[in-house]
Amino acid sequence: MAPRSRASVCIVGAGFGGIGLGIRLKQAGIDSFTIVERAEGVGGVWRDNVYPGLTCDVPSHLYSFSFEPKHDWSRRFPKRDEILGYLEECVDRYGLEDHLRLGTEVAGADFDEEAGRWRIRTADGAEHEVDVLVTATGQLSRPARPPIPGLDQFAGPCFHSARWDHEVELEGKRVAAVGVGASAVQYVPEIAPEAEQVTVFQRSPNWVIPKPDRPYRPRQRALFRRFPRIQAVSRAWVWARLELFILAFTRFQPLGRFYQWTCERRLRREVPDPELRAKLIPDYPLGCKRVLISNDWYATLQRPNVSLVEQPIAEVRGDQLITADGAAHPADVLILGTGFATLEFLAPMEVRGLGGRDLNEAWRDGAEAYLGLAVSGFPNMFMLYGPNTNLGAGSIVYMLESQINYVVEAVRALERERASWMDVRREVQSAFNEDIQTRLADSVWTAGCTSWYRTESGKVTNNWPGFTLEYRRRTRQPELADYVLES
Ligand code: NAP
Repeated sequence: MAPRSRASVCIVGAGFGGIGLGIRLKQAGIDSFTIVERAEGVGGVWRDNVYPGLTCDVPSHLYSFSFEPKHDWSRRFPKRDEILGYLEECVDRYGLEDHLRLGTEVAGADFDEEAGRWRIRTADGAEHEVDVLVTATGQLSRPARPPIPGLDQFAGPCFHSARWDHEVELEGKRVAAVGVGASAVQYVPEIAPEAEQVTVFQRSPNWVIPKPDRPYRPRQRALFRRFPRIQAVSRAWVWARLELFILAFTRFQPLGRFYQWTCERRLRREVPDPELRAKLIPDYPLGCKRVLISNDWYATLQRPNVSLVEQPIAEVRGDQLITADGAAHPADVLILGTGFATLEFLAPMEVRGLGGRDLNEAWRDGAEAYLGLAVSGFPNMFMLYGPNTNLGAGSIVYMLESQINYVVEAVRALERERASWMDVRREVQSAFNEDIQTRLADSVWTAGCTSWYRTESGKVTNNWPGFTLEYRRRTRQPELADYVLES
């Protein structure tokens, strides 16, 4: 086989990961890439999620690319439209349009061992060959619909929070809101003032911390523009504080207990009714499930037109949600804030590597990878935001930048080494996963709760067990000794 002169790269997904990688490849002088996106626009979750009140939970200075700082964010925690606008601007500024294939869904990919290339199949039946496959499909892109009997026959409009239907009028309506996760705490306070009644169905409560949000004054924005270093310091400060949360969730849990104590104190202050308060106190340590960040969640639950139901939903009958205690809760509109299929990673894509090995089969006992980036037996395939790279606190954009850098270096290494493919060694992947699972076993994420980070058997497949700085250090450069290189 002739040595490759310029590796072609297919990136699946045009969210933060895909766009960031596109920019970095261009900056590295690698122009031979395509970003394939199933939707008609870029932005990933920031395009899909349009629910009222959607803002980012991570301050904008850290939740944006370090190599493309935006100096005029309107506030610390910007709204969805501003973040989507930022991503669209990135596409414009770096001329990524020419690389985008919108409205094209990747159905699967097969590694052709002879040719040393990936054969990508799209949903319209077309096939394309590339050298390197990079998935940037996120962990929160596929809404999960709960298996509640009768749900499909609900008498009124019913939609998932990530597919919000703005055609449905909520004014004066009785709304049933199922789920109390990071999405629900943002939209329930927005819809409660207009709805006649909101019944919130809570399966388990969450710890809630305040949101230190504020607008940036024009003077501050001018300062950031004039002296970008000041913004860099702000970014570093946010990052360091979030690393402290990671410490609290992993190696130094007394710090977590202190944070939890502050949450309990706030709850006592803001919710005087002991009955409601008891419903809102989680029975697991802070951080086990995603910590929520809100200033108006508790106030909303105390509105006269909002009620909190703890009983599990047994079935939906006509326009009523019937709970396990037999009570009927009538509703005109049903909103599912029930989260995402987070454990299946690249599904529904079918990916087959060396010897036709199916990735879903390889991941039968829970997804795993080396550094969340590469899977043994799947050469020249890299994942952005893959297994064990989610954070209990911190910015995924920071993690993505580490991964993006690694992928660019891997593409360069392939060219430099004149290799047709690189495949992470099985023993390297196993040793890595043994180590992180041992560390995760001592973390707060295994401390007695169910969450979207863990499989039913209890394996934590989503979260990174350490500081984001450790991840940055370990992904600085692909160690060629970790890989089998085929020339
Ligand atoms: P989520 O955190 O997974 O929450 C899903 C909620 O639905 C939970 O309260 C869950 O209860 C409940 N639920 C699921 N099935 C149910 C059923 N059959 N009956 C009753 N309740 C049920 O989903 P999410 O709120 O969409 O958030 C997902 C993630 O997206 C977040 O953790 C966060 O990482 C990200 N996010 C970020 C932002 C932001 O940055 N602004 C905003 C939104 C989301 P249990 O807890 O008991 O399972």
